Amino acid sequence: MNLLISSRNAHKCEEIRALLPSAIHLFTLKDFPSAPEVVEDANTFSGNATKKGVHLARWMAANPALVAHVMGQGSHRDLMVLADDSGLEVDALNGAPGVHSARFAAMESGVAGNSPDAANNAKLLGLLKESPWETRTARFRCVIALTPAVPAHSQNRSPVCDADELELQTELFEGSCEGRIRFELRGARGFGYDPLFVPDGFEQTFAELGEEIKNRISHRAKALEKLRQKLLSWFGPSHR
Ligand code: IMP
Repeated sequence: MNLLISSRNAHKCEEIRALLPSAIHLFTLKDFPSAPEVVEDANTFSGNATKKGVHLARWMAANPALVAHVMGQGSHRDLMVLADDSGLEVDALNGAPGVHSARFAAMESGVAGNSPDAANNAKLLGLLKESPWETRTARFRCVIALTPAVPAHSQNRSPVCDADELELQTELFEGSCEGRIRFELRGARGFGYDPLFVPDGFEQTFAELGEEIKNRISHRAKALEKLRQKLLSWFGPSHR
């Protein structure tokens, strides 16, 4: 099976790679520089993950020659797209930054695109500066969408409702990780809000704990474990 991870974030792709069965051939958007950017404008993580997955699956299905060139002949037959959307929900901020996690700092300025991690973290610390430790509860959430890249000629509209066939075939896998937001940055590993997030049961941030622990308890690890179980039910346990 060939799986396209619809992300250009190297850290995220490595986390996903470390957690999936070895039988799967993994590719990322770095292998497909001409893949379209998908605007993540849904107001839920599942909405954005589904939108990304369906959009890219349709694009892959419409470009069989390119897929064969990058992945090998016949690869489109067992091709799926894995799209994830993730972010941080802070209770004292009514769930913000949520689906806006990647572009949190730039939201008011109207600047397009994602903001640097440092700017997002600085904004979060500023908004929480009056909040005591007990009220700094937060969680990372991740939703993974798995969509088959069905060749264009076999796609059709559902006769029952007007939903897109690929949307109906998309499966969602969810995970979350509870914790708190520290008062200052700690640690140099990971990415995004990792230097501020202390998972429940630990005293260090994700950026101090590092990938070995993060890959056991993170929101993404939990969603991927559900996906892994699904994939293993297709391939059998020898591919663990
Ligand atoms: P997206 O899922 O690529 O749209 O990214 C959402 C944003 O949420 C990232 O840019 C990070 O700011 C944040 N985020 C998601 N997962 C993590 C994580 O595991 N650690 C730290 N920040 C994360």
